Amino acid sequence: MSYSPIHTQMNAVVRLDPAGQKDTVAMSGPRNSILDTVGQTPIVRINNIGPKHVTLYAKLEAFNPLGSVKDRFALAAIETAEANGTLKPGQTVIEATSGNTGIGLAMVCAAKGYPLVVTMAENFSVERRKLMRFLGARVILTPAAEKGSGMIAKAEELAEKHGWFLARQFENEANADMHSRTTAQEILNDFIEIGLDYWVSGFGTGGTLKGVSRVLRAESPNTKIVVTEPDNVPILSSGIAQERDDEGRPSVSHPMFRPHLMQGWSPDFIPKLAQDALDADVIDAYQPIAGSDALQASRDLAQKEGIFCGISGGATFAAALKLAETAPEGSRILAMIPDTGERYMTTPLFEDIAETMSDEEMEISRSTPRYRFDISGGTAIDAPEEEAKPHATAFVEKVLAEQPVVMFALEWCEFCWSVRKMFAEAGIPYHSVDLDSVALQDNNLGGDIRVVLRNLTGAPTIPQIFVAGKHIGGATETFDAFNDRSIHDRLTEAGVAFDADMQRDAYSFLPTWLHPR
Ligand code: PMP
Repeated sequence: MSYSPIHTQMNAVVRLDPAGQKDTVAMSGPRNSILDTVGQTPIVRINNIGPKHVTLYAKLEAFNPLGSVKDRFALAAIETAEANGTLKPGQTVIEATSGNTGIGLAMVCAAKGYPLVVTMAENFSVERRKLMRFLGARVILTPAAEKGSGMIAKAEELAEKHGWFLARQFENEANADMHSRTTAQEILNDFIEIGLDYWVSGFGTGGTLKGVSRVLRAESPNTKIVVTEPDNVPILSSGIAQERDDEGRPSVSHPMFRPHLMQGWSPDFIPKLAQDALDADVIDAYQPIAGSDALQASRDLAQKEGIFCGISGGATFAAALKLAETAPEGSRILAMIPDTGERYMTTPLFEDIAETMSDEEMEISRSTPRYRFDISGGTAIDAPEEEAKPHATAFVEKVLAEQPVVMFALEWCEFCWSVRKMFAEAGIPYHSVDLDSVALQDNNLGGDIRVVLRNLTGAPTIPQIFVAGKHIGGATETFDAFNDRSIHDRLTEAGVAFDADMQRDAYSFLPTWLHPR
C-alpha cells in the first residue's frame, strides 16, 4: 500500500512532506496555516436518539475548516501533485465536483496561490456555488440532465484545452490514501480502548470508503463495514457491473442510477475508488435509506443532539439507526457525517423551516406589549421635537439646490442599499449624503442633518430621497414612485438622463426578508 499508517496524536495534524511524501506531524500551538487544521475531527457519542442496547457515535467532518470531509482530499490532491511534480507553481487547478470538493479545493488553492476552476451540475445547491466564488474560484455550471458524468467530461475537456491540473477525485489514489492516513487512524485511536463493531458510510467518490475500510479490515478486523445507498439507487448493492471503456473509465450511466436527494453521494456510475472497495471484498453489509428518513435523521440530530449536518450525514445516521435495531446488545456503531447543514438552506432539508413567525411564535410575541408587528407604533421611539441647527439647515439647502437627485442615507442600511441598487440598474445618477459616514461625524453634522430632515419631511426614517429639491419620500415611496413612473416625470423635468425603459418591480430590489409583497 502506498500510504503509511501512523497514529496521530491529540492536537496534531497530518501533512505530506512536499519532498518525500512522508507524513509529518505538526505539534500543537499556533498552526502554520489553515491547511494545518484539516482532519482530526471529533467523534461524538449520541445520547438522545436510538435504542438503548447499543451506543451510536458520529464522526463530524464538518469540523474541517471548510466544513466537509472533502477538505481532506483537497489538501491531499494538491500536496501529492506538488510532491510528484504534476502540479506546477501557479498552474490552474480544475475539478468536477458536487460542491464540497470544490469548496475544499478553493480553500487549499487560496492558501497556496493556485487559480481554481470548478465544473458543477446546475442542480447542486446555490450556496455551494456562492461559497466557491467567495473563496475566489470560478464555477462553470453544466446541465443537470447530463448528471455527474457531464460535469466530469466538461472538466476533462477544459483541462486538456488549457493545460490545467485536473484533480480527478473519483480515481485519484491520493483521495483514498489520505483517508487511510488520517480518517482511519483517527477512528482507530478513538476506539482503541473500547472497540468498534460497525462503521457506516455512504460513498460519493468512494475515497472515504476505500481509504478507511482497508485500514479497519487490517487493523480492526472485528469492525463490520456497512455501506449505505439511497434506496432508489442501489448501485453497489445491485451487483450489476459498471460498463467501462478500454481504460477502465465508466462509459455509460449505471442502469440502477436515478436522481436522488443525497447531494455528494452515489453518482450515476461506480467510481474507480468505490470499485476498488467492492473488489477488495471488505463490505460486510448494505443499508438502503429513503430520502425522507435521511431528512428526518438530519433534523433529529439537530434538534435532539445539537449536531448540525447535511443530507448525506442524515442518511448515514438513518442507516446507523436501522442497523442498531438488530445489532447485538452492547454494539458500538459509528456513522460518518460528511458535512454541515448550512450548505442546504435552499434544498428540501430546509423545506419545512419557515421564515415567518408561526402561531406559537406570534403568541410569544404578543405576550409582552412592545416591539410587535400587530400593533402600530410598537417600535417607534418617541423623540421630542428638536430645533434644527443653522449649519445643518444650510448644508441641506445647499445640497438640494446643487444636486438634481439626492439620497440622505446610511452606509449599510438595507433600505438604502436597495434604493442604490434600483438607481444603479435604471442608470439614475444620484448624490448620496451618508449620515453615518466618517466625513459627517465632525460636530455630529450627520445627526444634525437628521433633525433637519425630520422637520422638513415629517419622517423619522432614512433614506429620504429628493429630486430637483422636491421630496419624493423614503424607500417605499421611492419604489412606489418608480413603479407608477411618477419619478420618471420628475427626473425628465429635472433634465436627468436615465434608462426609462427599465421595467423591474422596484420592490424586487429589497432583500427577501424586507420584501413586503
Ligand atoms: N457526502 C457529501 C455531502 C459529499 O460531498 C461527499 C463527497 N462527494 C460524500 C458524502 C462522499 O465522500 P467520498 O467522496 O469520500 O465518498
